Amino acid sequence: MYLTSYQNTYSSLTIVLMLRIAIQKSGRLTDESLELMQECGIDFAKSGGKLKAAAYNFPVEFLFLRDDDIPEYVADGVADVGIIGENVIAEERPSLQRPVDIIERLGFSRCRLSLAVPKGAAYSSVQDLQGKRIATSFPNILNEFLQQHGVQSEIHEISGSVEIAPSIGLADAICDIVSSGSTLLSNGLSEVETIFRSEAVLISRPLSPEKQHIVDDLRFRIQSVGRAKKNKYIILNAPSEALPAIMALLPGMKSPTVTPLATSGWNAVHSVVPEDTFWEIIGKLKEAGAEGILVVPIEKMIL
Ligand code: ATP
Ligand code: MG
Repeated sequence: MYLTSYQNTYSSLTIVLMLRIAIQKSGRLTDESLELMQECGIDFAKSGGKLKAAAYNFPVEFLFLRDDDIPEYVADGVADVGIIGENVIAEERPSLQRPVDIIERLGFSRCRLSLAVPKGAAYSSVQDLQGKRIATSFPNILNEFLQQHGVQSEIHEISGSVEIAPSIGLADAICDIVSSGSTLLSNGLSEVETIFRSEAVLISRPLSPEKQHIVDDLRFRIQSVGRAKKNKYIILNAPSEALPAIMALLPGMKSPTVTPLATSGWNAVHSVVPEDTFWEIIGKLKEAGAEGILVVPIEKMIL
């Protein structure tokens, strides 16, 4: 399926078609990107400083790059797809020469891009930033937000340690990535506005049908892994008279599986429960008469 053979009269060389995936070399996206590939059953050896690695059992080759370079490398065709923070692709998209699209949301490295001002500074709305100096590494996203609110500020682009800009007199406010907020706090800043929410995403350039086929297979695996993480497998025992109430609480993939136990009048019920409603459902199941509830993680979930 993946093997495209090009043979010519001069050699019998077989070229294996590979999809090139760009992954952050070393940073906040790296571990979870590699973990996701492993969960998708893609095995490869990532050794030390190597910039490239081919998978043993799936037609992909990984390129390990700085995250800022990934959108451009994908746009230029050096890589076919890439894993990147949504904030970075949103920031860089206006300057890319060729189209790059987000084709899958990956659910990790969640963070937000927020405006923050020194603690105690007067702030009631974004209008208070009119004419002020704002330091950021994300000038395009910030500019778009300010324009939407009819605010004109002086944007100072700096590439790192944005949070110290107000204390050294470089800016009146900052716009930076926040996850817990502890960095802001320790630099005497208050978060006043969230302007962008981000998670890791898979980006792609337009591909040939052969490469698209590999991407579709990869996306299918990613979706099966993602779905499995959002659900739990649940097994419980229930007396027959409690079954209608219990079944009403358990949606399952189609409907729950009910099998009789050796003890007459008792049944084992198996089902799938969404992670986000999990504790609420467990409580209700107990109230309805469920006993011996086992909850098991699901590795892959294929619809
Ligand atoms: P590089 O050396 O590759 O340029 P970097 O220092 O620019 O790396 P990282 O700090 O590793 O980038 O962050 C990469 C991405 O991870 C960010 O663009 C963002 O999407 C996400 N991210 C950043 N900070 C956090 C955080 N505190 N929590 C979760 N995700 C984050
Ligand atoms: Mg970077």
